[in-house]
Amino acid sequence: MADLPLRVIPLGGVGEIGKNLMVLEYDQDILVIDAGLMFPESDMLGIDLVYPDITYLTSRADRVQGIVLTHGHEDHIGALSYLLKYLDVPVYATPLTRGLAEVRLKEAGLLADAELHTITPDDVLELGCFKVEFFHVCHSIPDGVGLGIDTPAGLAIHSGDFKFDHTPVDSWPTDFAKLGEFSGRGVLVLMSDSTNADKRGWTPSERVIEPALDQVFRTAPGRIIVATFASVISRMQQVANIAINHGRKMTFVGTSMNENARISRKLGYLDIPDNLMVSVEQALKMKPNEVVLMCTGSQGEPSSILGRLSTGTNRQFDLQSGDTVVLSSHPIPGNEESVHRAINRLFRRGANVIYDAIAPVHVSGHASQEEEKLLINLVKPKHFIPIHGELRHLHQHADLARELGIPAERVATIENGHSVEFDNGIMKLGERVPGGYVFVDGAGVGDIGPSVVREREALARDGIVLVNLAIDHNTSQLTDEPEIITRGFIIIRDADELMAGMNKLIRETVRRGNGDLKEDLRNTLMSYIYNETKRRPMIFITTSRE
Ligand SMILES: [Zn+2]
Ligand SMILES: [Zn+2]
Repeated sequence: MADLPLRVIPLGGVGEIGKNLMVLEYDQDILVIDAGLMFPESDMLGIDLVYPDITYLTSRADRVQGIVLTHGHEDHIGALSYLLKYLDVPVYATPLTRGLAEVRLKEAGLLADAELHTITPDDVLELGCFKVEFFHVCHSIPDGVGLGIDTPAGLAIHSGDFKFDHTPVDSWPTDFAKLGEFSGRGVLVLMSDSTNADKRGWTPSERVIEPALDQVFRTAPGRIIVATFASVISRMQQVANIAINHGRKMTFVGTSMNENARISRKLGYLDIPDNLMVSVEQALKMKPNEVVLMCTGSQGEPSSILGRLSTGTNRQFDLQSGDTVVLSSHPIPGNEESVHRAINRLFRRGANVIYDAIAPVHVSGHASQEEEKLLINLVKPKHFIPIHGELRHLHQHADLARELGIPAERVATIENGHSVEFDNGIMKLGERVPGGYVFVDGAGVGDIGPSVVREREALARDGIVLVNLAIDHNTSQLTDEPEIITRGFIIIRDADELMAGMNKLIRETVRRGNGDLKEDLRNTLMSYIYNETKRRPMIFITTSRE
């Protein structure tokens, strides 16, 4: 047995959904698993990204042996460019994960200087004292892996994001044999994905959504618009397969979706024949019942394509009668309200909307309770640390581990920045290190992604509208005239009329008092201003209550 402790230090993704980053440290060697970002809440106007606080790593930069990526989702690779600005270390990833990471590094101008290595699940990496092995996992993106990390203190397993899908879209199930083999060698600690720890049973196979999608294609009278995350590559494949069966052409709308599809096709993870694809321009000229469009915005983000369609402010095309919109994703926790509002707006604008409460057009990429239990039973770890989840998910997952017989003192429910030490096979809580947030407003060179640039262009082009409302806190009604201030917003001939129109709308919206007033008002004003001026200024609403 080794005389030094192994330290496990989560810097992101433990106590929250997003910006995953795990650190393993033994003696002088540090290994980093994943480098993810988190998207801020929608009311931050989409200008900022959130990165993990990596002070702990930057102050020990010379000891970091490498960064291993589990899969290509933004919450696992999105902060890579940020880390590589401070850490001159090699990065290891499977072909698709590497391809997607390269797109991000190129955007940041860091690709030429980055040292990237392609791995397969059969490889064994020696990174300092860490011997890293891989096992293939199913998830909502192909080419995901979990890690088996042999350290002088024992074997540590990191699940990555996983589910146990027996019939995945890419026909490559999770590698049970390798997990069994790890178990045979004795596992010191299992760190496992907790995203769905509050969901009973099994997560259904990705295949189950195909009949529901097929039904949509069979009955939709006009265009079909499928919204999902830009990185859900399996969904692109499923939509393509069904489009072929129904004789529809397919197009991707938006940069991130196009880039991800391009890389995945180039590397052979997405099998779409050339003659299936058309450009957005071509698609818009075709008969409505001959096309399917895929776009982002399934979380109701105001700046996404679907968000703009829902407010009637998308430049390239608008919703038309007969459109069917499919939301193929679950709301991220905390986003439920804005997703539901977006669905309401889409209905109001005449689209038929299919979402997972109506038909199974989405399944999760994460394990539910029975799969989480199966992983624990397969691996038979001595200790257990739930990762990838909010505190409620972590606690639920810890309960499952205890139900399966792991004693409470061997289960560590921790949050970002809380370290855990394994000293001669005994687990104890270690010191606390900085585990907070780094907000990125794009001010630093290289921090700006295309979406941020687009936001800034919009700001420069269309300006700002500021609305201040004085509201009586008893009646929730206005106590004074609404104050409307504009900056950089185009001066038009009918400005008086526009101001009067806005004033009227504001009064009506406040009187109506529907749900979230600011959100309601922002959307109402955005539609109105766009209709009148074809501009999309940023709209800020402040209230003073008296
Ligand atoms: Zn993922
Ligand atoms: Zn994830």
